[in-house]
Amino acid sequence: MSSLASSGVVNGGISFWYADDGFPVVREPLVGDATADVVIVGGGFTGLWTAYYLKKAVPFLRITVLEQKFCGYGASGRNGGWLYNGIAGRDRYAKLHGHEAAVRLQKAMNDTVDEVVRVAAEEGIEAGVHKGGVLEVATTAAQLARLKAFHEHEAAYGEKDRELYGARETAERIRVAGAVGSSWTPHGARLHPVKLVKGLAAVVEALGVSIFESTPVTEIRPKHAVTPYGTVRAPYVLRCTEGFTAALKGQRRTWLPMNSSMIATEPLTDAQWESVGWAGREALGDMAHAYMYAQRTADGRIALGGRGVPYRFGSRTDNDGRTQDATVEALREILVRFFPSLAGVRIEHAWSGVLGVPRDWCATVTLDRSTGLGWAGGYVGSGVATTNLAARTLRDLVQLDSGQGQRTELTELPWVGHKVRKWEPEPLRWLGVQGMYATYRAADERERTGHGVQSSRLARFADRVAGRH
Ligand SMILES: Cc1cc2nc3c(=O)[nH]c(=O)nc-3n(C[C@H](O)[C@H](O)[C@H](O)COP(=O)(O)OP(=O)(O)OC[C@H]3O[C@@H](n4cnc5c(N)ncnc54)[C@H](O)[C@@H]3O)c2cc1C
Repeated sequence: MSSLASSGVVNGGISFWYADDGFPVVREPLVGDATADVVIVGGGFTGLWTAYYLKKAVPFLRITVLEQKFCGYGASGRNGGWLYNGIAGRDRYAKLHGHEAAVRLQKAMNDTVDEVVRVAAEEGIEAGVHKGGVLEVATTAAQLARLKAFHEHEAAYGEKDRELYGARETAERIRVAGAVGSSWTPHGARLHPVKLVKGLAAVVEALGVSIFESTPVTEIRPKHAVTPYGTVRAPYVLRCTEGFTAALKGQRRTWLPMNSSMIATEPLTDAQWESVGWAGREALGDMAHAYMYAQRTADGRIALGGRGVPYRFGSRTDNDGRTQDATVEALREILVRFFPSLAGVRIEHAWSGVLGVPRDWCATVTLDRSTGLGWAGGYVGSGVATTNLAARTLRDLVQLDSGQGQRTELTELPWVGHKVRKWEPEPLRWLGVQGMYATYRAADERERTGHGVQSSRLARFADRVAGRH
């Protein structure tokens, strides 16, 4: 018996968020061929937000969502609940389209955080939202140097409201052992992802969108989404399958499915919270190369995540979130390194999910006007807010294409229509990703044990090889 099984950690079961909020009743599958104006493949945040905004804009549109399991089965029901303004690829978009275009993208992301909070409130979705911003801490000299550079860099994209803290000010917010500084942005909130995704699915359905669950799409072609139970024909077919994309015919090397893993503690006592601080309930992260992310949950736990086994050979995805014991232990070690007073706290749940990683690490949203095929994703680890911006953009692109709308600020953002080459075939893909994460871990270890302020050369090398910079 594994040490985990004996210690009573619930491993997998999709995520802690479902254990907390309950599984949904799964909707009926598709029965036979059908037609629609827009068919959306995938019932995560991207698909559901897209259905929401399209239906709000054009109430008579016939919109169908096809979901292989149930809405929120993927990353949208498993994430860390950081609703924040980060977007994968912004710096590359600055290089490709100029600084001003990337500033517009960043501004749109800042606004997106507020948009999600606004719609959740307006639609009566109780998603445990607390807008305490995001606090990123440094615990080594090299991390501090990176933090300061990061802080300046973000300010250059218009974040004038970002604040830089020294060790004492950081400790006043949260007592992370060995923290030497932190950077805080107000553009972030923590939330309960499953409450948001379940609430959104219910709202979308009530608006008149047809959602079919337990309905895997095996192939997408222009005007067709093919399933074992029938084909849905529509002028627009939007692929919103993120980390699962590789399983679709012809998409194996489009976005690499990368794992991220999380643990949730038992609820902490008042005395334990006293020792930790964290009254502002900021989304918490660090500046390690293999970084961590955490939130103080609405019911008083710590949910903490990081990279586990980053990638499975052949772009295979997960097994309902089951997580290797070594990964759970590594995350527990981070928790205890950050908060030594919590060494005895019980880990109640561990789970994993898949992210979509494009070859150049840039999120994209596209509608191919010649075929009516659209897609959005490649968010890497920043999709809770980005999916909402992608969805509003897909709405505008569909409206523009169908002659019902004009170009908008969103259709002109630099991530629209971005093209990226495919990943290498196996085994190069597997070797590359394993090597990159082994290098990040080695670099973090070197920075922790050494005293240099320079970011490890190893990590910079890994970034270059991975195509991240
Ligand atoms: C552990 C973890 C922690 C994360 N933490 C954060 C965070 O704190 N903040 C943040 O910003 N981002 C975070 N992310 C990323 C974020 O969750 C995702 O970017 C976001 O949820 C992506 O939403 P999506 O709808 O595009 O994809 P998904 O939520 O993965 O949805 C895709 C849906 O499509 C369905 N599907 C796939 N293939 C098919 C098919 N062939 N036919 C029919 N249906 C199909 C799937 O079942 C799934 O429901 C995290 C991700 C993980 C895994």
